[in-house]
Amino acid sequence: MTTKPLNDVYARSIRENVALVQQRVVRAAERAGRSPADIRLMAVTKTVAPEYVNVAVECGVNLLGENRAQELLEKHSVYTLGPECIHFIGHLQRNKVKSIIDKVSMIESVDSVSLAEEIDRQASRIGVVMPVLLEVNIGLQPTKSGFAPEALEEGLRAVSRLKNIAVKGLMAIPPKDNTQEYFQKMQQLSVDIAGKNIDNSTMEYLSMGMSADYELAIACGANIVRVGSALFGQRK
Ligand SMILES: *Cc1c(COP(=O)(O)O)cnc(C)c1O
Repeated sequence: MTTKPLNDVYARSIRENVALVQQRVVRAAERAGRSPADIRLMAVTKTVAPEYVNVAVECGVNLLGENRAQELLEKHSVYTLGPECIHFIGHLQRNKVKSIIDKVSMIESVDSVSLAEEIDRQASRIGVVMPVLLEVNIGLQPTKSGFAPEALEEGLRAVSRLKNIAVKGLMAIPPKDNTQEYFQKMQQLSVDIAGKNIDNSTMEYLSMGMSADYELAIACGANIVRVGSALFGQRK
């Protein structure tokens, strides 16, 4: 475990940012007639040194989002939060599942049945049932991964048959334009799928909204918002 001396100016800006974002989450929930306690603020840590991630944790952040397996492996032992407070949110290669499976409590970015099968295999190996979200390519963007909305139900039926996986909802990264429309489509999709009562799956979580649009996402039903740069500053 290594700890570097903190840059006070940066640490202070993180503290201020966390307080501001927490306040905005509460207000957005109230405006939407929702309980603020139902919404989880995730700090997305990519490129941020773990000592600074811990500053956000000191301010009350209790959920971290990791994009890259390698970064998680390098940083997790320095974090003051354990695997129960860490979700994987980035594109995950099948050959990396083994290395991260015991370091996270949810994989939000399941974008194919074959990835789910590997998660199932590795979860079975260590004797856990891994909660996952299915990632939806709601804008049908060729550069983005995820199930096309039309393919979601079939994908969910296949994934939900796996014994060591529990599907808990949906995740999306919508296009930057007309974001509200895509958030609303996600909300509808979540309701529609929930109505099908597929065994071994729930639609408990809807993970959407980032620094630019988390308040809008909350208005559209998100209960996990994934915020990076609004907490830690612009990534270089
Ligand atoms: C980087 C990232 C975020 C956070 O983005 P910001 O705009 O910095 O808030 C959220 N979700 C995913 C999947 C990301 O990769």
